[in-house]
Amino acid sequence: KITLDNVVKTFNTFRAVRGVSLDIGSGELVALLGPSGSGKTTILRMVAGLEYADGGQIRFGEEDATDIPVRERGVGFVFQHYALFPHMTVGDNIAFGMKVSKKKRSPAEIAARVADLLRLVRLEGLGDRYPAQISGGQRQRVALARALAVDPKVLLLDEPFGALDANVRRELRRWLREIHDELGITTLFVTHDQEEALDLADRVVILKDGKIVQVGTPEEVCRTPVNAFVMRFLGDAN
Ligand code: ATP
Repeated sequence: KITLDNVVKTFNTFRAVRGVSLDIGSGELVALLGPSGSGKTTILRMVAGLEYADGGQIRFGEEDATDIPVRERGVGFVFQHYALFPHMTVGDNIAFGMKVSKKKRSPAEIAARVADLLRLVRLEGLGDRYPAQISGGQRQRVALARALAVDPKVLLLDEPFGALDANVRRELRRWLREIHDELGITTLFVTHDQEEALDLADRVVILKDGKIVQVGTPEEVCRTPVNAFVMRFLGDAN
C-alpha cells in the first residue's frame, strides 16, 4: 500500500501540489486525471523518488519513502516518450535493467526472463528487432516489458499511450488492463484523457490546481460528480 499524507510540493514560489492525501491499495490500478498543470506528473515523480515532497509524507507500507533509496523502492516506470535505447535490440532493451540490477542473474536466466516478458507483452519473435523497426505501440509494450523486468512492486505510468493514435490507445488500454489483472501489480497511471481513466482504472483521482477534487470508482465519479468542474471535465469525454 502507498499512502500520500498531505503532500506538498513547491517549485520556487509556485505550489504545484497543495496538500494531497491518498491511499493506493496493493494491486489497485489508480488513475490520476486532470488538466495540464494540475500536478499529476509531480505526484508521480515524488512517489518514484525523482522529486522530494517539501511537506507531508509518502509511505510505502508503513515506511517513510524518504528512507527508501530510489533503486530500492521497487518501482518501474513508463513515460510517454520513454526512449528505448536505439542501438539495442528489443531483447537487450528489456534485459538492460536486469543486467544493471543488484540482483545477479545468469545470462541464461536473463534470456529466459526476456522470452517470458516478450510473451507477456505479446511481442514473441520480435526480440532481435531494433526499436526503429517496430511500431510506436509495440515500442510502448517494450517499455512496459522493460519496466516489469525487474519485478517492480509498483508500476508508474505517465501518459504512456499519449503519443499514439486513438485505435492503438484503445488496444493498449485493454492489454494493459489484462496484464494488470494477470500480475496484480499496484499501478498509478497519469492521464489527461477522461475516457482512458474511466475505462481503465479501479479508482480515479481528479486533480485541479495541485489539489484533489474527487476520488472514486469510474461509476461513482460519473454518477455523482462533486462539482461543476468534475462534471464539465468528465463531460468532455462524451
Ligand atoms: P501535464 O499534463 O501538462 O504534464 P501535470 O498535471 O502533470 O501536467 P505537472 O507536470 O505535475 O502537471 O506540473 C504542475 C505544475 O508545476 C505546472 O504548472 C508546472 O509548470 C510546474 N512544474 C513542474 N515541474 C516543475 C519544475 N521542475 N520547476 C518549476 N515548475 C515546475
